[in-house]
Amino acid sequence: MRRLLQGQGASRGNALGRAWVRLPDVLEVGEEHIEPGQVEAELERLHLAIERVRAEMRSLRERLQGALPPELGQFLDLHALLLDDPELLQGLDEAIRGQLLSADYALHLQRERITAGFRAMDDAYFRSRVEDIDQVIGRIHASLHARHDGRTGMAGEVLACESVAPAELAQLQQRGVVAVVTSAGSPLSHSAILARSLHLPMVVGVPGLLQRVADGEVLTVDGGTGEVVVEPGPADLRHHRERRRATARELRALRRLRREPTRTRDGSTIELQANAESPADIARAHALGASGIGLYRTEFLFLQRTALPGEEEQFQAYRDAVLAMNGRVVTIRILDLGADKADRTGLSLRDESNPALGLRGIRLAMARPDVLEVQLRAMLRASAYGRLRVLVPMVSERGQVLHVRAELARLAAALRAEGHGVAANVPLGAMIEVPAAALMLPTFLGDVDFLSVGTNDLVQYLLASDRDNEALGELGSPLHPAVLRVLRDVIRTAAAAGKPVSVCGEMAGDPRLSPLLLALGLEQFSMHPATLLDVRQVVRACDLMHLRARLPALLRARDRSGIERWIARHHPPLGEG
Ligand code: PEP
Ligand code: MG
Repeated sequence: MRRLLQGQGASRGNALGRAWVRLPDVLEVGEEHIEPGQVEAELERLHLAIERVRAEMRSLRERLQGALPPELGQFLDLHALLLDDPELLQGLDEAIRGQLLSADYALHLQRERITAGFRAMDDAYFRSRVEDIDQVIGRIHASLHARHDGRTGMAGEVLACESVAPAELAQLQQRGVVAVVTSAGSPLSHSAILARSLHLPMVVGVPGLLQRVADGEVLTVDGGTGEVVVEPGPADLRHHRERRRATARELRALRRLRREPTRTRDGSTIELQANAESPADIARAHALGASGIGLYRTEFLFLQRTALPGEEEQFQAYRDAVLAMNGRVVTIRILDLGADKADRTGLSLRDESNPALGLRGIRLAMARPDVLEVQLRAMLRASAYGRLRVLVPMVSERGQVLHVRAELARLAAALRAEGHGVAANVPLGAMIEVPAAALMLPTFLGDVDFLSVGTNDLVQYLLASDRDNEALGELGSPLHPAVLRVLRDVIRTAAAAGKPVSVCGEMAGDPRLSPLLLALGLEQFSMHPATLLDVRQVVRACDLMHLRARLPALLRARDRSGIERWIARHHPPLGEG
């Protein structure tokens, strides 16, 4: 039967697909009893679910054979062992047969009992196994409720879940998921921002979603209006087709902007650069007319492998990026690896209790001078092929910038002595993402050539709000007066000193926020290539002088809703750009 669910649109676009309902891994069920006559059926239901999870794990292991990193292999083995654990299985049978409990409630009780045992242990390793137990029991629970009709892939499905981690999204899209709908979250969460950059339709905050949609039901999703129709009727399907056609028209209009300048209505040129995490991003940036690469995240060269990349390999990657951009600037960031990233090179510390505050970015680079030296040598050699700039992540004090500057001078001299070409001037910049760096900017501004504001981390540290924790919802929103104040100060201080400043965090790639950043005085944006044309379209529709004149009103906003109102009032009508 047709049902209309209403959430908040988080990533524009329309999708039609079957629901793939993913229940949260943590099991929250009320006490449920069954009749004696239902025992055998309930046991069978449970054992079938367990068998399905076993089969899933076997097939995952087979599919990943060879490509499996050691930790993932161990983790799959551990889950397989837990699934066969007699204590877990017998306990479940007894609870259903002896106490007449539903399979769901039996699972819940078993989880509580086993995890209480682990939690009481002194050893951190055993305590952390609670997570594995949660995941295994969560999988059985999900399997109890899933409809199994021979579906093997996920192509054409709409993921309905409580929340989704940013890291999952690209993978889901690659596997063919056509939209994501969540019961929690906000349109400003990192997942939503990423969904927008992937052009993956997304609706968040649908009340009671997981109770109101069953696995396999057909859904239409409108990521603009936030409407989700379950089992759509002929009129809904017609509306969906119309919306798809309209979106395709909008995309064609956007594509026409590829060769257009990024100039505001009143004639100011705004620089749109691209963030790159792979050679493919650089090619896209070039094709879309980005004015350069504002952030080249070098982590991708270090992830998914066990040995560190050597100087030659890094040199070739940086040189190719510089060559691909053909005279436009390429900003290469020193490795920002931390214990939060899936690093298997052994470089980052494994056991940090709080990786975001740990040995990452320039801190790790200074703790490992050998690694920094290889990377800086590779960058300096690549500088001979075009306009390369070096960017230092996670700067919190002046000494870090001075250290890199001194290393660059020392290594450039050594490379020249070895007969390598090195550009006469390789600009050095600092990421402004630690609040202390923003606050103390005047003390080291003279030591850098440019700045790049990493709003993803700046917001996380300023608001004490873990950027990957969806549960924080809007508490991690960049639309906080404190964030705007810091941005305004950094932009103003840099401009007064004649130092270029860009924003390279996700804020810069969110077209909704372009008028706000322009009002704050920003003239350089760096973003994922996927959103570059959207931002260009908005910037071209903006009147810069008008927005700047409205800055006091923006800064008077006392909370997020005040800022949201300013944004709503100042979003320009989008015509042909
Ligand atoms: C940031 O923190 O805003 C940023 C661009 O860096 P990253 O997202 O790589 O931490
Ligand atoms: Mg950062």
